[in-house]
Amino acid sequence: MLLLNEVKRAAKSGLGYKLYKSLLLNYGKRGEKAYFYLRDQRVKKYLDFFVVVGRSEYVVEDNFCTCPDFQINLRGKKPCSHIIAVEISKILKCYDEINAYYVDFLKDMDWRREI
Ligand SMILES: [Zn+2]
Repeated sequence: MLLLNEVKRAAKSGLGYKLYKSLLLNYGKRGEKAYFYLRDQRVKKYLDFFVVVGRSEYVVEDNFCTCPDFQINLRGKKPCSHIIAVEISKILKCYDEINAYYVDFLKDMDWRREI
């Protein structure tokens, strides 16, 4: 999901006030949340997916996010805070790289639930 050019330009100046202001003006509370995800290094890049650690862990893939805000409130039409955070983390290269497949963790979780 493409971000507004204005926001992308602001991201080039780094994780500072300019970017924060641009996110807040263009995306409101969702933009502000995205900024804090970036600042707190909550964006993880696994070998297969990007994951944002919020109240829960959300998987982000280009123009899709597993969070309820994206699926229910935004109906998949506009980027949620996690998608915004991932897109900006790609510009800034400020994600945590994890040398593992996220699907492997999901399998572990399912396995635990069955017991
Ligand atoms: Zn989301």
